[in-house]
Amino acid sequence: MSLLVVGSVAFDAIETPFGKTDKIVGGAASYISLAASYFTKSTNLVAVVGEDFPQEFVQHLNKHGVDTTGLQVKQGEKSFFWSGKYHTDMNSRDTLVTELNVLANFDPIIPEAYQNCEYLMLGNLTPKIQQTVLERLHKRPKLVVLDTMNFWMEIALDDLKETLKMVDVLTINDEEARLLSGEYSLVKAAAKIQAMGPKYLIIKKGENGALLFHGTEVFFAPALPLEEVFDPTGAGDTFAGGFIGYIAKTGDISFEGMKNAIIYGSAMASFCVEKFGTERIIDLSETELNARVHAFKNLVNFSL
Ligand code: AMP
Repeated sequence: MSLLVVGSVAFDAIETPFGKTDKIVGGAASYISLAASYFTKSTNLVAVVGEDFPQEFVQHLNKHGVDTTGLQVKQGEKSFFWSGKYHTDMNSRDTLVTELNVLANFDPIIPEAYQNCEYLMLGNLTPKIQQTVLERLHKRPKLVVLDTMNFWMEIALDDLKETLKMVDVLTINDEEARLLSGEYSLVKAAAKIQAMGPKYLIIKKGENGALLFHGTEVFFAPALPLEEVFDPTGAGDTFAGGFIGYIAKTGDISFEGMKNAIIYGSAMASFCVEKFGTERIIDLSETELNARVHAFKNLVNFSL
């Protein structure tokens, strides 16, 4: 069942306690569409890059079955660039640079073949652009998921609040949930954020797992304790890609269905952090993925 992914496709420069990269391929939509491709072979991408973006990565996406007809390449312009540095605990980071470049004037054109998508994943982007995508779809998708970050809460809060009214699921981290709601308690924050629009809220807590809120119901998925965490960049997007990809595969948008989707999202994210950038999720085998999902099951399996 078809999935439309919109978000940044970019260059990142990352510094962690274990190493440093020059510009490597990143961007929310890169991670999301790669992760989703392990569950659905009908993923369509709308994004923008500059002429500096490597064609080789686009070919990787195509090999994964991701349709890139909606990826605009702007001649004479530069791709979005983000740089971040992680603290020693790897749970928090500082953004060092955000250069919007092609994102500053991004006009998200939806190819006709992408209309009627059943699932929409609005990855990290200017809230106004996320809203434009929704307005340009002839038919509202069955499920709309939105990811955002503190950057947009700080510079475009009013637009973000307008966009939130139009979505079903919001994924943000604990720090962002507190920033958006003004509440320290995540339970209170969840109630306030659900009142802003999204009836489902996923709060990601890095190595402490993720919480799914819906009304008064709550579900918790742990993060797998890993021997090595190399680079957390993109873990949130990979989580979102696994989540929406799994839902696109099953078609189940109930709270129960979302519980499984969160486990698959967490499994995908656990791979992402094992290497820099998209390296670890570019070539996963089905056996590896199944083993990881079982490791999650065993982690929380107990009898009363
Ligand atoms: P995550 O680690 O899952 O929060 O996502 C990191 C990715 O988000 C990186 O690959 C960046 O290129 C991308 N990113 C960072 N800041 C922004 C922004 N303001 N808008 C869109 N994408 C961003």
